[in-house]
Amino acid sequence: MVTYQYRCARCGPFDLALPMGRARPEERCAKCDGDARRVYTAPSLTRPGASLTRALDAQEASRHEPQVVTAPRAERRPAPPSDPRHALLPRP
Ligand SMILES: [Zn+2]
Repeated sequence: MVTYQYRCARCGPFDLALPMGRARPEERCAKCDGDARRVYTAPSLTRPGASLTRALDAQEASRHEPQVVTAPRAERRPAPPSDPRHALLPRP
């Protein structure tokens, strides 16, 4: 459902929720049953947050200017816990 705005000459503006694409140029006013014309308004778009904007910009930039990797990434794995029994194992 999409909210469309109409304006009655007598009663003023009112909103009407209709399925998308079903809005007609004129509707009946809910109060006085008179003619109401559709009012075209800007879509209610929301602006994404700063972090999402940065991520989308980086994704868009990677399409045309991918980052070049010149060296393998440094491993940051923690050292495995040492078990004293490992020292007793035979060595090649
Ligand atoms: Zn009206």
